[in-house]
Amino acid sequence: MDPLNLPDYSEILESIQDGLVVVDEKLRYLYLNKQAEKLIHKPSKTLIGKKFTDAFPNHNLNISGLIKKVKKSWKEKKVATLEIYFKPLNKWYSLIIYPLNNKFSIIFRDITQEKNLRKDLQNSKELLDVIFKHVSDGIVIQSPTGKIIYANEAAAVMSGFATVDSMVDAPLSTLPSHYDIFNEYKKPLSWKDSPGELVLKGKKESVDTVLCFVHKKTKEEIWIDIKTAQIYSNPLQKSGAVSIFHDITVLKRLEQQKDNFISLISHELKTPLTSIKVFLQLLQKQSTKSNQPAITNIVTKVSNNTEKLIKLIQSLLDVSRIQEGKLVLQKKSFSLPSLLNEVREDIQPITNHPISITVKKDTIVFADRERILQVLINLLTNSIKYSKDSKKIIINSIEKNNEVIISVKDFGSGIPRKDKYEIFKRFYQSHKHATFPGLGLGLYISSEIVTQHGGKIWVESKKGKGSIFYFSLPLKKKSTLHTR
Ligand code: ADP
Repeated sequence: MDPLNLPDYSEILESIQDGLVVVDEKLRYLYLNKQAEKLIHKPSKTLIGKKFTDAFPNHNLNISGLIKKVKKSWKEKKVATLEIYFKPLNKWYSLIIYPLNNKFSIIFRDITQEKNLRKDLQNSKELLDVIFKHVSDGIVIQSPTGKIIYANEAAAVMSGFATVDSMVDAPLSTLPSHYDIFNEYKKPLSWKDSPGELVLKGKKESVDTVLCFVHKKTKEEIWIDIKTAQIYSNPLQKSGAVSIFHDITVLKRLEQQKDNFISLISHELKTPLTSIKVFLQLLQKQSTKSNQPAITNIVTKVSNNTEKLIKLIQSLLDVSRIQEGKLVLQKKSFSLPSLLNEVREDIQPITNHPISITVKKDTIVFADRERILQVLINLLTNSIKYSKDSKKIIINSIEKNNEVIISVKDFGSGIPRKDKYEIFKRFYQSHKHATFPGLGLGLYISSEIVTQHGGKIWVESKKGKGSIFYFSLPLKKKSTLHTR
């Protein structure tokens, strides 16, 4: 401190993290702080009084150009800020230059690392741009308000925009008006249920779905598999959504041909099988009447197998209905305990597995009774089929928020972890090597029935220890506990 109590400025200048150099108009060094010495790798005493051009004879700077720039900025009452590459030291510096009574003070810092990083980023951005441009999948990035901030060529083509530029900056809701958009069951898709909206409004973290775009005039269908996910700029900050569009029209067409074929065959088989069943019943009556036990026995076996065939055909028809979006639900309020008892009464006589039920008395659900019965029969017959040794089966039901969760627990073979989600897909069978009857459709149909009721279906299982299948349904009213 000086006698006037002013602070010692040189101490401050020495302590700052930026380099500070003062040169006269001939660019002779007048002052360098410690940081400046470090940054240019020369001690102050070898530089003071020396010209910059003598200290660095091989420099690459356009000095007169720099001075002009500084003076111009100064005239405009602006500070000259520059980024320069300094060849003798192979470094990038950012400079702030102040002219000061025929002198220049220069504050500078090393930005080589930052510059390289920016270059790397630019290179990877260019690389990504090239990749995104040439992939056949469409890629769209939306801002938090739904505006498109990035789209690649494929995305523009798939969604009917003439060019990428006409797509960028438009909200996705302005999809060219020549398309009607449907969900995978061919039901019209409201904008609020579109993948981007669900993710941007925070209703879902990510969406994986299939949409169908139908051209209004030509009625041509384009099927797109869409995966949409939140983007985070840091772990807490949501900064938009990214969607990947994969055109599956060809696959869908083949699938539709297969479905049409299955649907046609099932319809054709259903009528003759139903009459075979009726004739068999007649035959059964006749043979019992005329006391022909051998024939009765054979007719009963044929009858049972016909029944199995009819059930298989029924499943195939259900799959067709689901695929065509024609699974109609006839919802009404009904008593869950009475439905569960009915299921047990149907199944218990044909199995040695003891079935127990726990359900709140007077639990009323609002659903399609026949279809829920179908789900329960499927879960129960699976529990029996996949647990040898007649182990017990426990049906449980608990109420949570505005829904009821029904579970069917067995102590059978269980399901490997990798199949936990797969078993709900069409034709998927986990026990591929074992010989169990079935087509792998029951859980698919059950899951479609439950989801179309607005519920969820899932499984908890340990291989060899058993499984618990759960599904939820909307509740009609609350009630009191009753355990059997
Ligand atoms: P299916 O029983 O006709 O094969 P499902 O769709 O009902 O078809 O079931 C799909 C697959 O899930 C079955 O093939 C089986 O491997 C597995 N699975 C279903 N329920 C159970 C269960 N309770 N325990 C063990 N595995 C099961």
